[in-house]
Amino acid sequence: MGKVGFCLAVSCAVASCAIAAILVSRRVKSRRKWNRVVGVLKELEEGCSTPVGRLRQIVDAMVVEMHAGLASEGGSKLKMLLTFIDKLPDGNEEGTYYALDLGGTNFRVLRVQLGGKESKIMGHKVESQPIPQHLMTSTSEDLFDFIASTLKEFVEREGDDYTVQLDRRRELGFTFSFPVKQLSVSSGVLIKWTKGFSIEDLVGKDVAECLQQALTKKGLHMRVAVLVNDTVGTLAVGHYDDDDTVAAVIIGTGTNACYVEQTDAIIKCQGLLTNSGGMVVNMEWGNFWSSHLPRTSYDMDLDADSPNPNDQAFEKMISGMYLGDIVRRVILRMAQESDILGDVPPRLTVPFILSTPLMAAMHEDESSDLTEVSRILKDTFEIDDVPLKGRKVIVRVCDVVTRRAARLVAAGIVGILKKIGRDGSGGVTGGRSKSIGEPSNKVRRTVVAIEGSLYSSYNMFREYLNEAVAEILGEEVAQHVVLKVTEDGPGIGAALLAAAYSSSNVASDNVTLL
Ligand code: ADP
Ligand code: MG
Repeated sequence: MGKVGFCLAVSCAVASCAIAAILVSRRVKSRRKWNRVVGVLKELEEGCSTPVGRLRQIVDAMVVEMHAGLASEGGSKLKMLLTFIDKLPDGNEEGTYYALDLGGTNFRVLRVQLGGKESKIMGHKVESQPIPQHLMTSTSEDLFDFIASTLKEFVEREGDDYTVQLDRRRELGFTFSFPVKQLSVSSGVLIKWTKGFSIEDLVGKDVAECLQQALTKKGLHMRVAVLVNDTVGTLAVGHYDDDDTVAAVIIGTGTNACYVEQTDAIIKCQGLLTNSGGMVVNMEWGNFWSSHLPRTSYDMDLDADSPNPNDQAFEKMISGMYLGDIVRRVILRMAQESDILGDVPPRLTVPFILSTPLMAAMHEDESSDLTEVSRILKDTFEIDDVPLKGRKVIVRVCDVVTRRAARLVAAGIVGILKKIGRDGSGGVTGGRSKSIGEPSNKVRRTVVAIEGSLYSSYNMFREYLNEAVAEILGEEVAQHVVLKVTEDGPGIGAALLAAAYSSSNVASDNVTLL
């Protein structure tokens, strides 16, 4: 080989080494970036972990907070509001009743025809529409004008199939699913807004009275017979169908629960006397807090950016309003730490752009190449060509966030069961009457009514929740606990309660005293 040839060969070798070095270094860099993605995921998994031991700590914390909330106003982050509902419909109710359901994504107007013991619910009609965005932060006058107008149009469309005596005053149940301090079954003042609503002039006012005034103004001959929230409505429907129902849980835009508390427990705490054995307590559990909750930096950032920081911590880890946004925050962090999604896509920084149903659709994508995940990433964030392993990581993020949420609800439910002695641990109060001699740890059949799209439409969420309840309680006790989907509970329940508390029914005894 000549001198020139030798130099050429050396240069080629050097060039190939350089190229190889660049490739290796790129691969190392890309592996490092990928490792960062995996690191973010690992950290999320650890931060969200809910082993059964931790869930049991949350159960106990829930019980402690329930006691504290009942004992004194402001004694706990759980408000434990008395609803004054001390009787629930039992199937004897007759007549046509109306209900309004406001408190989440949709506003519903309902009419329910009750046929007494034999026919029970003979028919019902529901009309639903999304709440116009601008009304959520408008004035109470605008809000109630919208509600009354919608109801009036609904009533006017009644047609001939309903034989309603137009001269008779109709009874209406109002489901208003925000924290309300109840003054009676049919009146109560708004404590604060949640779930993105903020109509400041209504805070501190009697919500039922505002509605009543708006109805009268529109010339509607209707009486607001009960003011309840969605949990109480759901409990009423659950109990109407199955009188072993002792609690109700909502998992939709927000989350909350109510249950039947023994009056002696309330009397002990508050010196309050009623003439029956039980009263429904609205827990407002969305605001539950315990240091045992597995809270991550994403939850803290979401909270800090929300219109109600330091508020509704439990709800912000669980409900439909927030789950999609927690996932978005994790994906954003992954994008910032690596170039797995190219430059950080601007739309990934837009709060709430990823809704919970879209997140659920990615989570439940069963195609081998995750085509639905690709489509949603493209449509929502304008991100193209995420490699399969990246798409798999995103599905995993959805799984971690959803599983934590479902397991926290399970712990909350078992907390209620423990408080009323239905968790098989030979609890203190024993739920409703136990016959003398019955072993205290014998578990009675116990039904919890559940309403809301996360439970009814999101299969993975439902499976994780059911699984966790069984895990915490143990299979044997869990056999006695039935979680029942209760469709349309908030609205129909309010109509049933309007029947139970209607003026014609007040003196009658065809209701079940709790
Ligand atoms: P609301 O709470 O308004 O009364 P829903 O119980 O239907 O109504 O709950 C609506 C919430 O449930 C929305 O916040 C939405 O994000 C969530 N959601 C609706 N459908 C699904 C679904 N298929 N999977 C997961 N989440 C869903
Ligand atoms: Mg609802």
